[in-house]
Amino acid sequence: MSVALMRDTENREVSTLAIACMDWRLNGVMDKRNDGATAFLRGAGSSQDLLGSLKKITREHPELKHIEVITHSDCGAAGVIYKAKYDYENYAAIGMSQSVWRRIVDKFDEKKFKDKEEVALENGTALEKRIVHNVWRWSDADVAMKHVDLSRVEVPQDGGKHTLVLMKPSTQKYSETIEAWGLEETGAYVVQAESLLDMLPDIELASRALHIDKVFAEAGHNGFRQKELASIRRRLGVSATCLV
Ligand SMILES: [Zn+2]
Repeated sequence: MSVALMRDTENREVSTLAIACMDWRLNGVMDKRNDGATAFLRGAGSSQDLLGSLKKITREHPELKHIEVITHSDCGAAGVIYKAKYDYENYAAIGMSQSVWRRIVDKFDEKKFKDKEEVALENGTALEKRIVHNVWRWSDADVAMKHVDLSRVEVPQDGGKHTLVLMKPSTQKYSETIEAWGLEETGAYVVQAESLLDMLPDIELASRALHIDKVFAEAGHNGFRQKELASIRRRLGVSATCLV
């Protein structure tokens, strides 16, 4: 199936693909960046696992001119990696599966980090390099990394109620989609990828390390199917509901 990136009402051509962290505090920040011509992919700490979705999208959308990797300060996912790297006991206590753990942490085996801010930047740099290495054969898009300092932008107060929303890559604004589904945008972490398989490490990190046990998934024509969600419920023991 081809990748249909949603377009805005003016049907503007999608020019930018942005890869950002799933952190709920970025929803509003990303909406401000989104002029209707930017499609988003999101995962834990701009996850490397999004590369599969990214390859598919860039192949099918030669009109893309820019690819952006967006990192941010005070990143929860980077914090988990940092803690686990220097405190194995802590990782074991989190209860993540070894296969997912390896995908997230192993690539940093040789690196030394001062703090989680360094992890976030290193993760972004590594992803940027991998994208350049992968897409140059079929895409003319330029690749750049941007960093969002959350202490310098306005974010709503954290009410402590966190959910995880799974969506396909899209140009739609979160203020429109998440609220239209009857969910609160404040506290809603967003993972966006082409397939649930690409999302599994991010969902596992969110549920095990960030303790988010309520998962909602976009359904309908462009979304995921009930049957697919059942596997998430089984694997991770979280509640997973389709949004229509
Ligand atoms: Zn983050």
